[in-house]
Amino acid sequence: MFASESAGIKVEPGHPLYRGLSRGFNPRWAAEPDYIRIVSSAEETRGALQAALRERADPGRDRITVRSGGHAYEDFVCAPDVRVIIDVAPMNRIHHDPAMDAVCIESGATNGDIDRDLVKGLGLLLPGGSCPTVGAGGHITGGGFGLFSRQHGLTVDYLYAVEVAVVDARRNVELVTARRDDGDDGLRELWWAHTGGGGGNFGIVTKYWFRDLPPAPRHILRAEAGWPWAHMDESAFREIVHNFGTFFRDHQEPGDPLAGMFGILLLTHSSSKQVGLITQIDAGLPDAEDALREFTGRIDTPSHVDLTDLEEPHGDHPLLVGSREPQSVPWTVVPRIAGLWTNNDKAGKYKSAYLREPMPDDQVGAAWRRLSARPDVPREAVVQVDSYGSAINRPPYDTAVAQRDSVLKLQHQVYWPECGSGEPHLAWIRALYSEMYAGTGGVPVPGTATDGCYVNYPDVDLGDPEWNTSGTSWAELYYKEHYPRLQQVKTQWDPGDVFRHAQSIRPLV
Ligand SMILES: Cc1cc2nc3c(=O)[nH]c(=O)nc-3n(C[C@H](O)[C@H](O)[C@H](O)COP(=O)(O)OP(=O)(O)OC[C@H]3O[C@@H](n4cnc5c(N)ncnc54)[C@H](O)[C@@H]3O)c2cc1C
Repeated sequence: MFASESAGIKVEPGHPLYRGLSRGFNPRWAAEPDYIRIVSSAEETRGALQAALRERADPGRDRITVRSGGHAYEDFVCAPDVRVIIDVAPMNRIHHDPAMDAVCIESGATNGDIDRDLVKGLGLLLPGGSCPTVGAGGHITGGGFGLFSRQHGLTVDYLYAVEVAVVDARRNVELVTARRDDGDDGLRELWWAHTGGGGGNFGIVTKYWFRDLPPAPRHILRAEAGWPWAHMDESAFREIVHNFGTFFRDHQEPGDPLAGMFGILLLTHSSSKQVGLITQIDAGLPDAEDALREFTGRIDTPSHVDLTDLEEPHGDHPLLVGSREPQSVPWTVVPRIAGLWTNNDKAGKYKSAYLREPMPDDQVGAAWRRLSARPDVPREAVVQVDSYGSAINRPPYDTAVAQRDSVLKLQHQVYWPECGSGEPHLAWIRALYSEMYAGTGGVPVPGTATDGCYVNYPDVDLGDPEWNTSGTSWAELYYKEHYPRLQQVKTQWDPGDVFRHAQSIRPLV
């Protein structure tokens, strides 16, 4: 039941770890697999995958899935049709690899591991997400974005190579290394597909290598503020959203002292205390504190709604400083605050949108109507507006991330207690999203104002004709013109479609 083999540790039904390992971070997602394999090395990964492929499978329940941090928003890893889960979490070493002249990050490392070990051991930064429990396996392949991305770009902008366990047409498993400058076209394309193609598509990533990572900041300056809902009205709400969007549109050029500033506008539901504003900047940037104060001053113009300290966390963001005044925080302590992240006892539903310009009036109006309406049941909901652009829009290489001229990225979120069905919450977020993008068939179709959706915030409703009447498929919303190229890579490297889920890249027939 629990024997260590060259294919890793096998956890079967009945073992105390089985139930916990059969569900996602999001408690909506659960599986009843034959077993979970916990692997600690690339060779064990290869062995585990080969063993799973040789077993007889029930056709209705034959999916083999891979998990790193377990933070998938949809049931891509844990679902009733999953037979085997390969869990790479123990494979989390981070070191400089002289042979590759690059930093090696194994795919089971979490953002917390990466931030801590890169700073401690190497004094470097990977500009990815801030949630310390998100795993590199899914996060990096989807593009990887966070509070340093306007200053330094996306994680994949530094990806030099990737090691992947792939399955050929005869169901044999091989470990391959694909480099950015590979002489072999197929391998170079496999590398490219891992610069934004999304997890669970081509094979099992075991290692990533990064070159030219930026130095880690010594300190960050952070401010967390909020406008009380009690005094909020539609004109103030519109003004705040407008100010936020125009600021980030107008400060992107290299050399602009505000180009490295990151902001998060938390358009919460009115059952919360405040609409929130989180701002962060590398304290080592010239005049960082002045820049942060200038930003807050420009956003905070509604005269009748006072900006005060932020009082409660929203969505995925715990309170770090809870102060509207900029606070200096040593970067080394930030990765150690994993305990503050409390969201894994709640079920959640997420949607996303890229914006090429400040949020259009009709979308702000729809958000206002849905967020200000008094609900029958308390709603923990937020439209999180993240700043985008700046260094992200100047990628050094050709990557699979298709959105490279947006200025904002939105994440629509709603949460409910693990034990609840979530039906009213799902209905609420679907209505909000449909209304915000009513002009383009209920989804943010690539066009003048919107530019599709983020593959790391997947949403199966994008593939449902009830919620997407645009004629633009989920694949085009995530990948735009890159989708056919990703399909070519899929056809070469996973011809049997072993790695699949509701929104995986389809091989060409
Ligand atoms: C609380 C929270 C905060 C977040 N914050 C951010 C953020 O700041 N920035 C951001 O960009 N995103 C963020 N995300 C989204 C996150 O990047 C994605 O959910 C990501 O896919 C999670 O990766 P994972 O390895 O933790 O999840 P998993 O559930 O393990 O995997 C997600 C997908 O990747 C696949 N996968 C996992 N490991 C591998 C592997 N080794 N090889 C191949 N495929 C693999 C899985 O099969 C699945 O399809 C956040 C998510 C949550 C829940």
